[in-house]
Amino acid sequence: MLSLYQCHCSECRKTTGSSANAGLLLSKNQFRWIAGEENIKVFIKSSGYRVNFCATCGSPVPNPTSVQAGFMWIPAGLLDNPPPSLKVSNHIYVDSKASWDEIAGSAKQHAELPLNINKTLL
Ligand SMILES: [Zn+2]
Repeated sequence: MLSLYQCHCSECRKTTGSSANAGLLLSKNQFRWIAGEENIKVFIKSSGYRVNFCATCGSPVPNPTSVQAGFMWIPAGLLDNPPPSLKVSNHIYVDSKASWDEIAGSAKQHAELPLNINKTLL
């Protein structure tokens, strides 16, 4: 089952220009590139925050998570046909959300990223 996450950390807010960065968190063995991997450019901020994007269209692309080895972050806005059942299941880094950000819904809220995301989030 796929779960959708929203990260409210300051790095994601700056990168997306929005209140949160929505994405799927998959283990690396659940993901493979079909095409376009050669067009990926990587920008790494001084904090270590990594931004992978398509050099052709500028869109964010799936990227390995910097805080938890073995996982890929799949930006949710890239999905052409997300299943209707896909809903936000977890909000992460809620303690650093923008003051104007009001989180709605019943998804779990985590102050930061739980240490064991395998058991807590997946
Ligand atoms: Zn974040």
